[in-house]
Amino acid sequence: VESMAQLPSGAGRISHLNAVILGESLASEENDLVFPSHDFSRQALVSSPEQYRKMYENSIEDPAGFWSEIASQFYWNNKWDPEVCSENIDVRKGNVKFEWFKGGSTNISYNALDRNIEAGNGGKVAIYWEGNEPGDDGQLTYAELLEKVCQLANYLKHVGVRKGDAVVIYLPMLVELPIAMLACVRIGAVHSVVFAGFSAEALAQRIIDCKPKVVITCNAVRRGSKAIHLKEIVDSALIESVKNGVSVGLCLTFENKSAMKREDSKWQEGRDVWWQDVVPQFPIKCSVEWVDAEDPLFLLYTSGSTGKPKGVLHTTGGYMVYSAATFKYAFDYKPSDIYWCTADCGWITGHSYVTYGPLLNGATVVIFEGAPNYPDSGRCWDIVDKYKVTIFYTAPTLVRSLMRESDEYVTRYHRKSLRVLGSVGEPINPSAWRWFYNVVGDSRCPISDTWWQTETGGFMITPLPGAWPQKPGSATFPFFGIEPVIVDEKGNEIEGECSGYLCIKKSWPGAFRTLYGDHERYETTYFKPFAGYYFSGDGCSRDKDGYFWLTGRVDDVINVSGHRIGTAEVESALVSHPHCAEAAVVGVEHEIKGQGIYAFVTLVEGIPYSEELRKSLVLAVRNQIGAFAAPDKIHWAPGLPKTRSGKIMRRILRKIASGQLDELGDISTLADPSVVDQLITLRDC
Ligand code: ATP
Ligand code: MG
Repeated sequence: VESMAQLPSGAGRISHLNAVILGESLASEENDLVFPSHDFSRQALVSSPEQYRKMYENSIEDPAGFWSEIASQFYWNNKWDPEVCSENIDVRKGNVKFEWFKGGSTNISYNALDRNIEAGNGGKVAIYWEGNEPGDDGQLTYAELLEKVCQLANYLKHVGVRKGDAVVIYLPMLVELPIAMLACVRIGAVHSVVFAGFSAEALAQRIIDCKPKVVITCNAVRRGSKAIHLKEIVDSALIESVKNGVSVGLCLTFENKSAMKREDSKWQEGRDVWWQDVVPQFPIKCSVEWVDAEDPLFLLYTSGSTGKPKGVLHTTGGYMVYSAATFKYAFDYKPSDIYWCTADCGWITGHSYVTYGPLLNGATVVIFEGAPNYPDSGRCWDIVDKYKVTIFYTAPTLVRSLMRESDEYVTRYHRKSLRVLGSVGEPINPSAWRWFYNVVGDSRCPISDTWWQTETGGFMITPLPGAWPQKPGSATFPFFGIEPVIVDEKGNEIEGECSGYLCIKKSWPGAFRTLYGDHERYETTYFKPFAGYYFSGDGCSRDKDGYFWLTGRVDDVINVSGHRIGTAEVESALVSHPHCAEAAVVGVEHEIKGQGIYAFVTLVEGIPYSEELRKSLVLAVRNQIGAFAAPDKIHWAPGLPKTRSGKIMRRILRKIASGQLDELGDISTLADPSVVDQLITLRDC
């Protein structure tokens, strides 16, 4: 197997790894390697590079056998055709098409709920819910969750939602959000969750695209100390949709009493219905709609950091098997774990790793409605201690924002329950990685830095925490069944130590099947750039030990005097400076170099910006990467323009950097649009 040749192999290396894993040398870091402890590896599902290699080879040589074995752990009402997978990934040979477990029929709600209850886990807590106010909380066992899902499913059927119909869900992180997802899935309806931080325009755009029968929302939500009137946002979106010929007949509204009373909520008789008035009247049992493995499961619009949102469509069977298997192995999941992922269900992470992956494994999940800095920056660790969280999965942006504050917010809590940490969303810079590892995890918990995308459905390149040493900032090696390749500009695979474009060679069960209503855009965006492969859009390099390092989107590569420099690399160097909290780098036109490097930097709380600091930031980059990568301009940025999922919107930064201030485009999907004006004011600072 080609890519396996890259795993630390060679007798010396492997015996070295063995020595370490067997406890002969427990140095915590060597040559940038961070080893899992002996105790951790011993209890892990995959506990050595050899074990991984065996399983990986098997998954590549016999994908049908490998995946059928995992799929067989679930209930299928009808077994799939003898052919487990059929695919055409090569646009030159016709339409791109992936099918997994075709002919099999199943249901994810059944497998996540009924199956676990039948196995004797009905009394196990499925969801702990933690509200915005400390002390405001609740919990649901698997049996209770099933009842709630069935009531809503019965209601949806009653109002005419049928298999294949779309339902838009615009809810904050209340338990009603996963309940709504599971209720749709139970009756074969296709949910499209829209993050409840999106503006009315963004919501309308999505409603117009997928034409739902019902929109499910709540009247309001509290974030920190503010109340946000979600229902009013939905009202405007529905008006906008009507103008575009899409009229939604029903808006099911949950009364979120702690944020707003129903008397204060705007209401449209005939269209709007209170959840609490209808849903509890429906039976607590609801039969399951068995759907084909290739029937649509959900539609999710990507976060939109690169233009018009794409309606990513996932289907049932392959997604079920893939989200469950990746969850289990990447977090080394055990039935006794308490798992908390800080993502919102409005993102793919909240689909695969708040709802489906964990519940399919019968896990206990914590969901949190509030903000991580309310009432103060210690809230996450307060929650970890309260529920004895063992697996904590978050994003680098949260890690960096907490890192800006005093460590005391972390160290005043025990955090002894933690055993695995996780990161997703963007490359995690080594200094944030180390802080997460050393301070949050007390140098005890491996970090699963999971690289994947809305499109991939589940993890693609990720550490298996007990299997091999990590390198801070590297997502390490491919998950089972995944064949990543790095190609050059012409689409030729490059071997060994190299950098280029990250592609995937074959289909995998969790892959998206199309962009809703636009199969052509699906092929053009992902399969045409490098014919014969799925193109991720990300740049990547592979080091001498075969570790994969994601360098950000390829449109984020800057060409300075012929040197190709990943913005992520420069950002990482800047952030390693003790006074720099966050950095975003873009390219600008440069008379001599072709492109110049323009760096926006956010400083650590309390540090003033000065000429001296500017020089030392530039020096940090010179020292770590080289003089050719030294930023031409440092732009002090007290705040950066970010999407609601915490990703930096570089297209806006590019415009600011190049002075095209009247071409900033739509900034309504920013978490805080006011930072844009602030940045413009500071341009000449
Ligand atoms: P859009 O495609 O609309 O621009 P998006 O790509 O931000 O939105 P997602 O699918 O949520 O939406 O994000 C996937 C991207 O996030 C990846 O392509 C990659 O650039 C980045 N990413 C996610 N996890 C990691 C990780 N662990 N390391 C490096 N990059 C990551
Ligand atoms: Mg993307």
